[in-house]
Amino acid sequence: MTTMDLRADIGEILLTEAQIQARVADLGVQISADYAGRPLTLVSVLKGSLPFMADLMRSITLPVRIDLMEVSSYSGATTESSGLVRILKDLSSSIEGEDVLICEDIIDTGLTLNYLVRYLGGKKPASLRICTLLDKPARRLVEIPVDYTGFTIPDQFVVGYGLDYGELYRNLRYVGVLRPEVYTESE
Ligand code: 5GP
Repeated sequence: MTTMDLRADIGEILLTEAQIQARVADLGVQISADYAGRPLTLVSVLKGSLPFMADLMRSITLPVRIDLMEVSSYSGATTESSGLVRILKDLSSSIEGEDVLICEDIIDTGLTLNYLVRYLGGKKPASLRICTLLDKPARRLVEIPVDYTGFTIPDQFVVGYGLDYGELYRNLRYVGVLRPEVYTESE
């Protein structure tokens, strides 16, 4: 069960605040160089990518527009592998002709992003690339061309820096693994 002490629920810290901040700053430098002279549109996927996008956009020195989408996977056995995604919040404005960079929190099976790339690609951006803070390649079901990766992590369920368990832990400044009791006692 979740306690009122978020830190006490975390077993191992996988990525410290300092590690995350340093890597996000590096990504910002790299992205600013790659898109030099062009304005960039960042599209983030709520809710998990919120802290990542907030930090990344401030480490990019180009003119940046942002837009937000919210999606949820359809629950149920058949949809798990089909990758059907429901759009809860769509883009606010057109991305046609823009250089678009998707900011994701984590790529696991890749099904969500696979859907998003097809969806956003259909809106005729000038270019479409992917930036993810975390990549868990062990569980990938579809091949995704990832252009920028913060960290490659092992096949563990992580929380913090936007990532939740039961909608909690998103406000942690680091990424960690929950103690097993947090899952077992809530079932
Ligand atoms: P995919 O479609 O790539 O399997 O899953 C992407 C989504 O699953 C992520 O945006 C995230 O919401 C969720 N997810 C995948 N792995 C983790 C994890 O380790 N921790 C948390 N909190 N969410 C995860």
